[in-house]
Amino acid sequence: MTTSTEPARRVSSRLAAIAESATLAVDAKAKALKAAGRPVVGFGAGEPDFPTPPHIVEAAIEAARDPKNHKYSPASGLPELRKAIADKTLADSGIHVDPANILVTNGGKQAVYQAFAAITDPGDEIILPAPYWTTYPEAIRLCDGVPTKVFTNAESGYKVTLEQLEAARNRRTKAILICSPSNPTGAMYSAEELTAIGEWALEHGLWVVTDEIYEHLTYGKKMNYLLDLVPDLANQTIVLNGVAKTYSMTGWRVGWMYGPKDIIKAATNMQSHTTSNVSNVSQRAAIAALTGPQDIVEDMRKAFEGRRNLLLGMLRDIDGVIVPKAEGAFYLYPDVTSLLGREINGRTAENTTELAAIILEDAEVAVVPGEAFGASGCLRFSYALNEADLVEGITRIQNLLA
Ligand code: PMP
Repeated sequence: MTTSTEPARRVSSRLAAIAESATLAVDAKAKALKAAGRPVVGFGAGEPDFPTPPHIVEAAIEAARDPKNHKYSPASGLPELRKAIADKTLADSGIHVDPANILVTNGGKQAVYQAFAAITDPGDEIILPAPYWTTYPEAIRLCDGVPTKVFTNAESGYKVTLEQLEAARNRRTKAILICSPSNPTGAMYSAEELTAIGEWALEHGLWVVTDEIYEHLTYGKKMNYLLDLVPDLANQTIVLNGVAKTYSMTGWRVGWMYGPKDIIKAATNMQSHTTSNVSNVSQRAAIAALTGPQDIVEDMRKAFEGRRNLLLGMLRDIDGVIVPKAEGAFYLYPDVTSLLGREINGRTAENTTELAAIILEDAEVAVVPGEAFGASGCLRFSYALNEADLVEGITRIQNLLA
């Protein structure tokens, strides 16, 4: 209770509870060192290092010149873009979606928030397989929901089992979040695993929020789409996606969500009062991305696959480190528990936040500690960097630990 002698709280309890993004914090520290002239190698970035392909940039320049793009457009997105998203969805996943049930958002991130806002009442529990992307629990909490974290480990390839899900389910459980391929682990569910989770959600009347933003970054295995495998879930599933990772367009801020009509309508109403339409120039660029040549996507995927193989081999050469062979996204997530409590360069790390700090200060290599994704014990390496830097960075870590 606030008494008259206590200072009034300035920041609301809702926002005061939101944690700083740990991935951005690592990035900021690495950038500060770089700015001070240090030769930092960064494995922290959650974005492709390639420039956006030229034909997409050209479409944006042309769009900026056309006065029709200088005005407000529908909050739900340009009709041409929603049609392109529906066509792309059918081509990639075999799923028919009515453009009316698609909402174009300011990046996939806004879609994450609006999906939880549309289905969560205070106290509703959302099952969140961990390690998880940092934004999910914060978005759930902002919507007054409760993230129910279900922890996985390197031995299970960072995938949840039905037994774990069933143990986490109770009468307050509203939904489950699926992110496959995953940020931060790169793990990808097989068709059998995804079908089993989907059927379990169907049986118990749970919503599914499925984040498919890394759909085109898979190595050796094909992407599995939940609604293709369990179409009966269509009335209780929200699909999240965007152009950021596939087309190297993180800065353009175009994502989308699709799902049942009532949910998309509710999310559109919310967006109409917060951000309105996504920048028309960016939407036109996204149309060019989705309807233009797709060989660029395969070129980037191949480059990532080569780096994944290189990084996997080098990390596995470090004694005591367990590295599952991630099948998607652009992350590897080694279990480095064996390095904790051990002397490194005269210092000892008790958790991975401390270990990442030693690696940054002594080897000048930036990695993200597992604490950012729910638990200590692991480090996230993004391989969105060129091969020479990748080799240099891992060699420095190998030398530090030798
Ligand atoms: N989902 C996942 C799993 C992500 O990793 C990201 C980006 N880090 C996003 C969604 C959102 O991407 P954006 O907002 O840039 O479209």
